Amino acid sequence: MCPPTIEQSVSIALNNFSVAFGDTRALDDVSMRIMPGKVHGLVGQNGSGKSTLIKVLAGYHVPEPGAVIDVGVRPVNFPLNGSSFQGYGMSFVHQDLGLIPQLTVLENFLIRELSSKSQRWINWSREKERVNLTFERFQLRHVDLMAKVGSLSLAQQAMLAIVRALEGVTTDPGEVEMRGGLLVLDEPTAYLPENDKEHLFKLMRDVVATGRSVLFVSHYLEEVLQITSHVTVLRDGRVVGDLPSRDLTTDGLVELIIGRTLQSGAVSTATSSSKKIGLQVENLHGGFVNGVDLHILEGEIVGLTGLLGSGFEDVPNLIFGSKLAEQGVARVGDSEYVLDSMHPARAIDAGIVLIPADRQHQGLSLSLSVLDNVTLQLLSQHRNKFGLSRSKMLRTTERLMEDFDVRPRDPLRKVSELSGGNQQKVLMAKWLASDPRVVLLDEPTRGVDVGSRQDILMKIRAAAIRDGISVLCASSEPDQLVELCDRVLVMGGGRVVSELARSELTKDRIVERCYSAAASNVV
Ligand code: ADP
Ligand code: MG
Repeated sequence: MCPPTIEQSVSIALNNFSVAFGDTRALDDVSMRIMPGKVHGLVGQNGSGKSTLIKVLAGYHVPEPGAVIDVGVRPVNFPLNGSSFQGYGMSFVHQDLGLIPQLTVLENFLIRELSSKSQRWINWSREKERVNLTFERFQLRHVDLMAKVGSLSLAQQAMLAIVRALEGVTTDPGEVEMRGGLLVLDEPTAYLPENDKEHLFKLMRDVVATGRSVLFVSHYLEEVLQITSHVTVLRDGRVVGDLPSRDLTTDGLVELIIGRTLQSGAVSTATSSSKKIGLQVENLHGGFVNGVDLHILEGEIVGLTGLLGSGFEDVPNLIFGSKLAEQGVARVGDSEYVLDSMHPARAIDAGIVLIPADRQHQGLSLSLSVLDNVTLQLLSQHRNKFGLSRSKMLRTTERLMEDFDVRPRDPLRKVSELSGGNQQKVLMAKWLASDPRVVLLDEPTRGVDVGSRQDILMKIRAAAIRDGISVLCASSEPDQLVELCDRVLVMGGGRVVSELARSELTKDRIVERCYSAAASNVV
């Protein structure tokens, strides 16, 4: 099969894509046409099917029969043969970036070579020179080729993935090079600071100037309208809008995305209450957070959300000290803690615990038993005059496993052998048993099955009410926030920009506020 030449810059039409995962119809008969020389936007709520569409193009998912891709007049059939379709010049930056953190920058650039050849056949010094030239061409400075990718900032990692995808894409219209017919970027700007975004937009404009196309996924609607010439909107796996960008406004886009008319909802003020404040945070800065103040009453559950990159995802770690804050103060009871010198051990002493999203790496020792994991925090309660009382620890663990319905009910089972939902319950048991005053939750049910999800949310509610614990729940899932929270704070541009009281909490309203929070912060 002979790939088209540059003179034949062609449109790429996706026809009748349907993909189901069990009962979820991730894509339902989706068709769209991407014109040559244009940036095409793809928008929709979390879960609307954007990444699935992209993974079909990349050959990860095979759509149901009937799907066809037309490159110009030529149909390309499924299943895609990765290499033949790559010949049409597709390159991708996936949502998770697709980098391998344990490998160096250089090795990440040579992934394809590393997987197809023996390392012996790689001419490292030549490759190094090549990658250096690429970095120069894309003005990617201050990145050490020998650094482990995992040690770089998220912004650097994002730029690296982008430049890796662009590597074979010529930006010189005079040069006939046959890769890069379509560059696909799945939410590439979420972690980029403003000047890197400008840089990326310039690169995108250079790419389309050569007649190629870019498919651009972003929640930042202002930037979508600024850079694209056409936008396709997905809702629940269907195309609900396909319009030239010049005919659209951000409000119009939000209406298409959530499927109803915007209401100019009043911003609620926090209801005053006679309850005491359990946690107060002032002037928090660090990561993407740029001046957050918040308070949580005793027994209250406050949700924190926003689009990716708005800063909400950093707040729990900055308070807990697992990520260092630049400044900020936390008050728990009568004690005050300066957050730029906070660390997890001090937070735990203060009665603050964090239940992390990345429980496999941060929260649990997978190779240890449930017993060891649960009782690690409780050691002081289990000392007797001979040291630790194993039988007492066993009884405590059995009681907690019963309480949290951890299955199977075997305290000696290794945590690595439990399902994701049961691992999360062990983690909750471990922390709630230590009598905390403040619980910080970071995406508490990510990767957790539906049954356990319900259990976990109920346990959090019960603990908050019964023990007067103040709970902060950072989550990107509106449904979960509605179910769990007394009020929800919405962040944009590193600050809290709006608040929804319990009586106003609906999924649509949360999503709408997330988009308008982002829009109000575009400068
Ligand atoms: P988006 O990128 O728009 O946020 P996705 O394409 O990732 O949405 O997801 C669309 C829907 O398909 C969601 O309901 C998601 O939970 C589901 N989904 C995506 N990938 C998988 C998978 N590998 N297995 C099961 N369900 C999936
Ligand atoms: Mg996605």
